[in-house]
Amino acid sequence: MVNCNNNFRGYERKRTLKQHSRIRKIHIILRLISVAAVIGLLWYCINGLNLKEVSPEPILSVGTGSFNVSSADTSKNDTDETSWSLILVNRWNAIPEDYVVDITELSNGQTVDTRIYPALQKMFDAARADGVYPVVASGYRTAEKQQSLMEEKIAAFKAEGYSASQAKAEAETWVAIPGTSEHQLGIAVDINADGVKSNGSEVYKWLKQNGYRFGFILRYPPDKIEITGVSNEPWHYRYVGIKVAAAMHDQTLCLEEYLREKN
Ligand SMILES: [Zn+2]
Repeated sequence: MVNCNNNFRGYERKRTLKQHSRIRKIHIILRLISVAAVIGLLWYCINGLNLKEVSPEPILSVGTGSFNVSSADTSKNDTDETSWSLILVNRWNAIPEDYVVDITELSNGQTVDTRIYPALQKMFDAARADGVYPVVASGYRTAEKQQSLMEEKIAAFKAEGYSASQAKAEAETWVAIPGTSEHQLGIAVDINADGVKSNGSEVYKWLKQNGYRFGFILRYPPDKIEITGVSNEPWHYRYVGIKVAAAMHDQTLCLEEYLREKN
Protein backbone atom coordinates (compact mmCIF):
# COMPACT_ATOMS: atom_id res chain seq x y z
CA MET A 1 0.00 0.00 0.00
CA VAL A 2 2.82 2.26 1.00
CA ASN A 3 4.53 1.49 -2.24
CA CYS A 4 1.25 1.84 -3.93
CA ASN A 5 0.71 5.18 -2.26
CA ASN A 6 4.23 6.27 -3.06
CA ASN A 7 3.73 5.17 -6.64
CA PHE A 8 0.46 7.01 -6.77
CA ARG A 9 2.01 10.18 -5.31
CA GLY A 10 4.92 9.79 -7.68
CA TYR A 11 2.50 9.40 -10.54
CA GLU A 12 0.53 12.41 -9.35
CA ARG A 13 3.75 14.47 -9.03
CA LYS A 14 4.82 13.42 -12.53
CA ARG A 15 1.40 14.28 -13.83
CA THR A 16 1.52 17.68 -12.09
CA LEU A 17 5.03 18.28 -13.44
CA LYS A 18 3.83 17.28 -16.92
CA GLN A 19 0.86 19.63 -16.61
CA HIS A 20 3.13 22.43 -15.42
CA SER A 21 5.52 21.99 -18.31
CA ARG A 22 2.60 21.84 -20.74
CA ILE A 23 1.16 25.07 -19.28
CA ARG A 24 4.62 26.66 -19.45
CA LYS A 25 4.90 25.60 -23.10
CA ILE A 26 1.48 27.08 -23.86
CA HIS A 27 2.52 30.30 -22.10
CA ILE A 28 5.72 30.49 -24.14
CA ILE A 29 3.81 29.88 -27.39
CA LEU A 30 1.22 32.50 -26.48
CA ARG A 31 3.97 34.97 -25.60
CA LEU A 32 5.75 34.28 -28.92
CA ILE A 33 2.50 34.78 -30.82
CA SER A 34 1.83 38.11 -29.09
CA VAL A 35 5.43 39.30 -29.68
CA ALA A 36 5.10 38.34 -33.37
CA ALA A 37 1.76 40.17 -33.54
CA VAL A 38 3.27 43.32 -32.02
CA ILE A 39 6.27 43.18 -34.40
CA GLY A 40 3.92 42.63 -37.35
CA LEU A 41 1.76 45.57 -36.29
CA LEU A 42 4.79 47.84 -35.88
CA TRP A 43 6.17 46.77 -39.29
CA TYR A 44 2.83 47.46 -40.93
CA CYS A 45 2.57 50.90 -39.27
CA ILE A 46 6.11 51.96 -40.22
CA ASN A 47 5.90 50.72 -43.82
CA GLY A 48 2.35 51.94 -44.28
CA LEU A 49 3.36 55.43 -43.14
CA ASN A 50 6.46 55.47 -45.32
CA LEU A 51 4.48 54.43 -48.37
CA LYS A 52 2.00 57.19 -47.71
CA GLU A 53 4.76 59.76 -47.44
CA VAL A 54 6.20 59.09 -50.87
CA SER A 55 3.29 57.53 -52.67
CA PRO A 56 1.67 59.38 -55.54
CA GLU A 57 -1.58 57.87 -54.35
CA PRO A 58 -4.37 60.29 -55.11
CA ILE A 59 -6.15 61.75 -52.13
CA LEU A 60 -8.47 63.85 -54.18
CA SER A 61 -9.60 63.50 -57.74
CA VAL A 62 -9.99 66.91 -59.29
CA GLY A 63 -12.02 66.70 -62.45
CA THR A 64 -14.25 69.72 -62.18
CA GLY A 65 -11.76 72.50 -61.49
CA SER A 66 -12.75 75.79 -63.08
CA PHE A 67 -9.44 76.16 -64.88
CA ASN A 68 -9.28 72.74 -66.50
CA VAL A 69 -12.33 70.70 -67.13
CA SER A 70 -12.46 67.56 -69.19
CA SER A 71 -15.16 65.12 -70.07
CA ALA A 72 -12.55 62.53 -71.03
CA ASP A 73 -14.07 59.18 -71.95
CA THR A 74 -11.75 56.61 -70.36
CA SER A 75 -12.93 53.73 -72.53
CA LYS A 76 -11.89 55.75 -75.58
CA ASN A 77 -8.50 56.51 -74.03
CA ASP A 78 -7.61 52.83 -73.93
CA THR A 79 -8.06 52.34 -77.64
CA ASP A 80 -6.92 55.75 -78.84
CA GLU A 81 -4.01 56.41 -76.52
CA THR A 82 -1.55 57.85 -79.02
CA SER A 83 -3.75 60.83 -79.86
CA TRP A 84 -2.97 62.33 -76.48
CA SER A 85 0.19 60.55 -75.31
CA LEU A 86 2.22 61.45 -78.40
CA ILE A 87 1.38 65.14 -78.57
CA LEU A 88 4.58 67.09 -79.29
CA VAL A 89 5.20 70.17 -77.20
CA ASN A 90 8.53 71.96 -77.33
CA ARG A 91 9.85 75.47 -78.02
CA TRP A 92 8.70 75.16 -81.64
CA ASN A 93 5.34 73.50 -80.93
CA ALA A 94 3.03 75.19 -78.44
CA ILE A 95 0.19 73.46 -76.65
CA PRO A 96 -3.04 73.59 -78.69
CA GLU A 97 -5.32 76.31 -77.38
CA ASP A 98 -8.23 73.92 -76.91
CA TYR A 99 -6.17 71.44 -74.89
CA VAL A 100 -8.00 70.19 -71.81
CA VAL A 101 -6.73 68.07 -68.96
CA ASP A 102 -8.41 66.06 -66.25
CA ILE A 103 -6.11 65.97 -63.26
CA THR A 104 -5.60 63.75 -60.23
CA GLU A 105 -4.00 65.09 -57.08
CA LEU A 106 -1.14 63.14 -55.52
CA SER A 107 -0.60 62.73 -51.80
CA ASN A 108 2.00 65.52 -51.77
CA GLY A 109 -0.30 68.04 -53.45
CA GLN A 110 1.18 67.76 -56.95
CA THR A 111 -1.22 66.88 -59.75
CA VAL A 112 -0.95 64.83 -62.95
CA ASP A 113 -3.19 63.95 -65.88
CA THR A 114 -5.55 61.27 -64.59
CA ARG A 115 -4.73 59.03 -67.58
CA ILE A 116 -1.06 58.63 -66.59
CA TYR A 117 -1.75 58.12 -62.90
CA PRO A 118 -2.01 54.27 -62.93
CA ALA A 119 1.31 53.93 -64.83
CA LEU A 120 2.99 56.43 -62.51
CA GLN A 121 1.79 54.51 -59.46
CA LYS A 122 3.04 51.22 -60.92
CA MET A 123 6.42 52.76 -61.66
CA PHE A 124 6.76 54.14 -58.13
CA ASP A 125 5.72 50.80 -56.61
CA ALA A 126 8.36 49.02 -58.71
CA ALA A 127 11.04 51.53 -57.72
CA ARG A 128 10.25 51.07 -54.03
CA ALA A 129 10.34 47.30 -54.45
CA ASP A 130 13.91 47.82 -55.71
CA GLY A 131 14.73 50.00 -52.68
CA VAL A 132 14.56 53.32 -54.58
CA TYR A 133 12.29 56.08 -53.26
CA PRO A 134 11.18 58.70 -55.79
CA VAL A 135 8.82 61.66 -55.34
CA VAL A 136 6.98 63.79 -57.88
CA ALA A 137 8.59 67.20 -57.44
CA SER A 138 6.53 68.84 -60.16
CA GLY A 139 3.60 67.56 -62.20
CA TYR A 140 0.87 69.45 -64.00
CA ARG A 141 1.29 73.23 -64.22
CA THR A 142 -1.21 75.82 -65.30
CA ALA A 143 -0.15 78.48 -67.81
CA GLU A 144 -0.22 80.95 -64.89
CA LYS A 145 2.15 78.76 -62.85
CA GLN A 146 4.54 78.46 -65.80
CA GLN A 147 4.37 82.23 -66.28
CA SER A 148 5.22 82.90 -62.62
CA LEU A 149 8.16 80.44 -62.80
CA MET A 150 9.43 82.39 -65.80
CA GLU A 151 9.03 85.73 -64.05
CA GLU A 152 10.87 84.45 -60.97
CA LYS A 153 13.76 83.31 -63.15
CA ILE A 154 13.93 86.63 -65.02
CA ALA A 155 13.90 88.51 -61.69
CA ALA A 156 16.71 86.28 -60.41
CA PHE A 157 18.90 87.09 -63.44
CA LYS A 158 18.11 90.79 -63.16
CA ALA A 159 19.19 90.64 -59.51
CA GLU A 160 22.50 89.21 -60.74
CA GLY A 161 22.98 92.34 -62.87
CA TYR A 162 21.62 91.18 -66.25
CA SER A 163 19.74 93.72 -68.40
CA ALA A 164 16.01 93.08 -68.93
CA SER A 165 16.52 91.53 -72.39
CA GLN A 166 19.56 89.51 -71.26
CA ALA A 167 17.69 88.24 -68.19
CA LYS A 168 14.73 87.18 -70.36
CA ALA A 169 16.96 85.40 -72.88
CA GLU A 170 18.89 83.65 -70.12
CA ALA A 171 15.72 82.65 -68.23
CA GLU A 172 14.29 81.11 -71.39
CA THR A 173 17.20 78.67 -71.53
CA TRP A 174 16.17 77.41 -68.07
CA VAL A 175 12.40 77.68 -67.99
CA ALA A 176 10.07 76.75 -70.84
CA ILE A 177 8.18 79.69 -72.33
CA PRO A 178 4.57 79.50 -71.10
CA GLY A 179 2.57 77.48 -73.63
CA THR A 180 5.57 75.34 -74.56
CA SER A 181 6.09 73.39 -71.34
CA GLU A 182 5.19 69.71 -71.24
CA HIS A 183 4.16 70.26 -67.64
CA GLN A 184 1.13 72.14 -68.95
CA LEU A 185 0.04 68.88 -70.63
CA GLY A 186 -0.07 67.07 -67.28
CA ILE A 187 1.62 63.99 -68.76
CA ALA A 188 5.17 64.98 -67.76
CA VAL A 189 6.64 64.85 -64.26
CA ASP A 190 9.84 65.98 -62.59
CA ILE A 191 10.89 63.09 -60.36
CA ASN A 192 13.37 63.50 -57.57
CA ALA A 193 14.50 61.42 -54.61
CA ASP A 194 12.73 61.50 -51.27
CA GLY A 195 16.08 62.68 -49.86
CA VAL A 196 15.87 60.28 -46.92
CA LYS A 197 16.06 56.74 -48.22
CA SER A 198 17.38 57.60 -51.70
CA ASN A 199 19.44 60.32 -53.31
CA GLY A 200 18.94 61.93 -56.71
CA SER A 201 21.48 59.90 -58.63
CA GLU A 202 19.97 56.61 -57.41
CA VAL A 203 16.51 57.69 -58.53
CA TYR A 204 17.70 59.05 -61.92
CA LYS A 205 19.65 55.86 -62.59
CA TRP A 206 16.67 53.66 -61.78
CA LEU A 207 14.34 55.75 -63.92
CA LYS A 208 16.71 55.72 -66.86
CA GLN A 209 16.93 51.93 -66.71
CA ASN A 210 13.27 51.20 -65.96
CA GLY A 211 11.01 54.14 -66.83
CA TYR A 212 10.23 52.90 -70.35
CA ARG A 213 8.78 49.66 -68.93
CA PHE A 214 5.96 51.79 -67.52
CA GLY A 215 5.55 54.05 -70.55
CA PHE A 216 7.75 56.93 -69.37
CA ILE A 217 10.72 58.29 -71.31
CA LEU A 218 13.66 60.45 -70.30
CA ARG A 219 12.46 63.40 -72.34
CA TYR A 220 15.66 65.46 -72.55
CA PRO A 221 18.68 63.14 -72.82
CA PRO A 222 22.12 64.81 -72.69
CA ASP A 223 22.98 63.70 -76.24
CA LYS A 224 19.79 65.11 -77.81
CA ILE A 225 19.92 68.74 -76.62
CA GLU A 226 20.07 70.17 -80.14
CA ILE A 227 16.98 68.19 -81.17
CA THR A 228 14.84 68.72 -78.06
CA GLY A 229 16.01 72.29 -77.45
CA VAL A 230 16.30 71.55 -73.73
CA SER A 231 19.38 70.89 -71.60
CA ASN A 232 19.92 67.55 -69.92
CA GLU A 233 17.15 67.04 -67.35
CA PRO A 234 17.58 63.63 -65.69
CA TRP A 235 14.44 64.22 -63.60
CA HIS A 236 11.96 65.07 -66.38
CA TYR A 237 9.90 62.07 -67.51
CA ARG A 238 7.18 62.13 -70.09
CA TYR A 239 4.47 59.54 -70.64
CA VAL A 240 4.21 58.12 -74.17
CA GLY A 241 2.75 54.66 -73.46
CA ILE A 242 4.63 51.39 -72.99
CA LYS A 243 4.86 50.37 -76.67
CA VAL A 244 6.29 53.68 -77.85
CA ALA A 245 8.57 54.04 -74.82
CA ALA A 246 10.03 50.59 -75.46
CA ALA A 247 10.63 51.40 -79.15
CA MET A 248 12.27 54.73 -78.27
CA HIS A 249 14.41 53.03 -75.63
CA ASP A 250 15.53 50.24 -77.98
CA GLN A 251 16.43 52.67 -80.79
CA THR A 252 17.69 55.45 -78.45
CA LEU A 253 15.39 58.00 -80.03
CA CYS A 254 14.07 61.16 -78.42
CA LEU A 255 10.41 62.06 -79.00
CA GLU A 256 11.15 64.47 -81.86
CA GLU A 257 13.14 61.75 -83.67
CA TYR A 258 10.54 59.07 -83.02
CA LEU A 259 7.71 61.21 -84.39
CA ARG A 260 9.79 62.19 -87.42
CA GLU A 261 10.49 58.51 -88.21
CA LYS A 262 6.91 57.51 -87.64
CA ASN A 263 5.47 60.11 -90.04
ZN1 LIG B 1 10.16 69.11 -66.02
